[in-house]
Amino acid sequence: MGAGDAAELHDPYVAGVKTEVAVARVRADVAALHGELVRYGLVVWTGGNVSGRVPGADLFVIKPSGVSYDDLAPENMIVCDLDGQVVEGTPGSSRAPSSDTAAHAFVYRNLPEVGGIVHTHSTYAVAWAARGEEIPCTIVAAAEEFGGPVPVGPFAIVGDDSIGRGIVETLRDSRSRAVLMRSHGPFTIGQTPRDAVRAAVVLEDVARTVHIAREGGAVEPLPAEAIDRLHERTRSLDHQTTVERRVTPPRRGRRSEKTSGRTADK
Ligand SMILES: [Zn+2]
Repeated sequence: MGAGDAAELHDPYVAGVKTEVAVARVRADVAALHGELVRYGLVVWTGGNVSGRVPGADLFVIKPSGVSYDDLAPENMIVCDLDGQVVEGTPGSSRAPSSDTAAHAFVYRNLPEVGGIVHTHSTYAVAWAARGEEIPCTIVAAAEEFGGPVPVGPFAIVGDDSIGRGIVETLRDSRSRAVLMRSHGPFTIGQTPRDAVRAAVVLEDVARTVHIAREGGAVEPLPAEAIDRLHERTRSLDHQTTVERRVTPPRRGRRSEKTSGRTADK
């Protein structure tokens, strides 16, 4: 008592409350972001999914399997550990999580900078995936968002680690935040679930636009130097807004400025 912030930081009760608050925020974010997949026409029926890492904990939140988009709500999102196991006794845990949960878990385990993942079967992106053809970087929107061509990942069966492994192996050495899993569809990653959703929306737009452009004639990739400049500019703008979002309001004063990421809460 009275020992100040240092003691409080190591208090398991305080740490537990912080995790509860973080889980509640991610539940609300992830539930709401599913509405964007519908709004932009990226999903049909109950297909597609968004997940979000819980800052400061080895957990993520993902959509339940087979639930109508109209019925998705914060309380029926499902909390999983980084092995993809449902955390029993938490709200929503009576349902099965998305059938892509193992893939999401594999990505969170292996790419610590990833805070959000989206998977859809959006039409034009899947058309490129069906041909096993990367989307060339021929327009500014593609350069800004993906920093080059959108790569194709291996064909893999849903259910075990093979999709996650294919995503990680394809994206680990790429600037792209999107991968077209062969004959299946796109997975996008981001620093936050919202970033990953944005990548999924832009991806479908780019896939559609380049498809249409090519029907009218040959398309040329942008020069590498132009791609680099466009991509770096976008990334630095993204970095600024992400840092602004992560810095908590200075209620307690002096710590807030240095608390900039998920590692700070560990
Ligand atoms: Zn799928």
